[in-house]
Amino acid sequence: MEQQHALFPTYARYPIALVKGEGSWLWDDQGNRYLDFMSGLAVTNLGHAHPAVKEKLQQQLDELWHVSNLFHIPNQEKLAKRLTEISCADAVFFCNSGAEANEAAIKLARRYNHQVLKKDRYEVITFQQSFHGRTLATLTATGQDKVKEGFHPLPEGFVYSPYNDAAALQNVITDKTCAIMLEMVQGEGGVNPADPQFVKEIVRLCEAHDLLLIVDEIQTGMGRTGKMFAFEHYGLEPDIFTLAKGLGNGFPIGAMLGKAKLKEAFGAGSHGTTFGGTPIAAATGLAVVETITGQNLPQRAAEMGELLKQKLSTALSGHPQFVEIRGKGLMVGIEFSEPVGEYIAKAQQKGLLAVQAGPNVLRLLPNLLVTEEEIDQAVNTIHNVVFDTASVSSSS
Ligand SMILES: *Cc1c(COP(=O)(O)O)cnc(C)c1O
Repeated sequence: MEQQHALFPTYARYPIALVKGEGSWLWDDQGNRYLDFMSGLAVTNLGHAHPAVKEKLQQQLDELWHVSNLFHIPNQEKLAKRLTEISCADAVFFCNSGAEANEAAIKLARRYNHQVLKKDRYEVITFQQSFHGRTLATLTATGQDKVKEGFHPLPEGFVYSPYNDAAALQNVITDKTCAIMLEMVQGEGGVNPADPQFVKEIVRLCEAHDLLLIVDEIQTGMGRTGKMFAFEHYGLEPDIFTLAKGLGNGFPIGAMLGKAKLKEAFGAGSHGTTFGGTPIAAATGLAVVETITGQNLPQRAAEMGELLKQKLSTALSGHPQFVEIRGKGLMVGIEFSEPVGEYIAKAQQKGLLAVQAGPNVLRLLPNLLVTEEEIDQAVNTIHNVVFDTASVSSSS
């Protein structure tokens, strides 16, 4: 496509240009309609152009777009208050993206050790197959080599341990460790839910060594997994957690949330960003939070997720390359014993958008208001695509 020539080719783009969206549906510039089971990668959790969010955004557009964080921003304070009311956090720092939220979390963990605990500790333990972003610090935190290639030297202070391996964790803790950071369900790494025993060991080690527990909720948060935040499945309270994707339903906003004891480590001048929590971003976030909590959408995500998994497992049983279905709520991964790129391309041709997670996992992230009919339609398309593709590839 013509317009791509003026862009850095950082994305291998699908040959589709989407121009309009409503609810679970998207239209391309040729007038074709697609059922969206990606949600912009767990962003449009309320569907496209959600009326309540749109109304708030339009209203705010008439009032005020931007002022500096040197002033009080009432919407920002309101959104922070709501987020602390519905979680274990006491304070919020707003930014614009997931990577920035994680960057803030890493900075805060280091600075808390330096300024408050007066300890020379800076290492953060993260996990293999994790994904935490693309800035230098967050790509270093990410437990996948492919995002690091050619970007050395990387910042110091990151140590990796195998995910879901409780026994291995003890060995990577040193007198320099200040925090452990993880996703409760690894998203990009293949839709891998954390094992409860593994999580228990993390919590135990954080207590024993006075480490901060950082949970990256950028993909799992905002109702996606059947709870408002995925750590609620495990009955734990992280010291810090991060949000972005679903918080603005498509309007860019990120947040780093933490416990009260961390406040003094992030005093005036310690950290900042021009666009974090502008009136317009915060108004959008408020509308999203009110809609998700007001309609109990995490519960709905849990129920619809169960339905989706049941229907998928019926539709896929007997497929020679089908391995398993996993995930929580409406964050669902279907593992095959072969790469799923071709399935995704064929699903697009049949009007369904799904996304890859690792080479062999087909990831489904419908919006939280998805209907049973839409689930039936998606499952039917996936069934047709994977059985067609299997018979084509075995006969060729
Ligand atoms: C997407 C994602 C990020 C990075 O968010 P950006 O907004 O792209 O910077 C970080 N962590 C997780 C778990 C993610 O899914």
